[in-house]
Amino acid sequence: MSRRARLGQHFLHDQEVIERSLAAISPRPGEAFVEIGPGRGALTLPLLARTGELDVIEIDRALAELLTARPGLRVHVADALTWPFESLVRDGNRLRVAGNLPYYLSTPLLFRLFEQAGCIEDMHFMLQREVVERMTARPGTAAYGRLGLMVRCHAEATALFEVPPEAFRPPPRVWSAFVRLRLLRTRPVSDAGGFRRMVTRAFTHRRKKIGNALRGVLDEEAIRACGIDPDRRPGTLSFDEFAKLAREAADPG
Ligand code: SAM
Repeated sequence: MSRRARLGQHFLHDQEVIERSLAAISPRPGEAFVEIGPGRGALTLPLLARTGELDVIEIDRALAELLTARPGLRVHVADALTWPFESLVRDGNRLRVAGNLPYYLSTPLLFRLFEQAGCIEDMHFMLQREVVERMTARPGTAAYGRLGLMVRCHAEATALFEVPPEAFRPPPRVWSAFVRLRLLRTRPVSDAGGFRRMVTRAFTHRRKKIGNALRGVLDEEAIRACGIDPDRRPGTLSFDEFAKLAREAADPG
């Protein structure tokens, strides 16, 4: 695989999609903005024009060099996965993060950013459409599962619009979608690790009834004590119901 393919370099060139993305992000002067993977600058330059200052993190040195020497633009040649985002906070303003992310990076980066949620206000990302569907899926749908439930521990996710492959050069094989994530200031679950173990267990056996899927973790009586019928399938349980089950497993009785 070429370096370009490995780094997911599909550059946005459709002006209408660029305008829609900027309208959704709604950047304002003085906000602390960070763009991940600026590439050739399709979003970078209009973002910079609106905010006056911008930090960008680009792993590819040759692309980063194309962007340097613009007033207000700070280019960091680095891997966003290991970048300390707190270091970009100025005057106590939480960061607004944006990017058209390479698909290989999207889920691991999202969870790295959630770990640093205290310094982030919101995030707008272009991602593979299927990932956005899973992030925002409702119970009872095929896309509903672990990813959406884990995202919901940290953020409110809103799917904004879909983007066809032709909007990029070279075009990727799949459709993309633009998503907004507003970080929650109060976490809906206090033990994210216990919650993750619960949903991982439930969705490893997604076709089984929840009572069977959780065998060895919670018995049917304990599931009923949470107000949940053990005959239901994992994909029908709401976020709050999984949170109850996780609490029950952590602290039975
Ligand atoms: N934002 C540009 C656009 O919309 O045209 C480029 C988007 S392209 C899908 C992804 C960009 O992320 C590329 O410039 C690529 O080099 C960069 N990239 C890939 N992996 C990265 C990483 N781990 N950290 C930072 N940037 C990365």
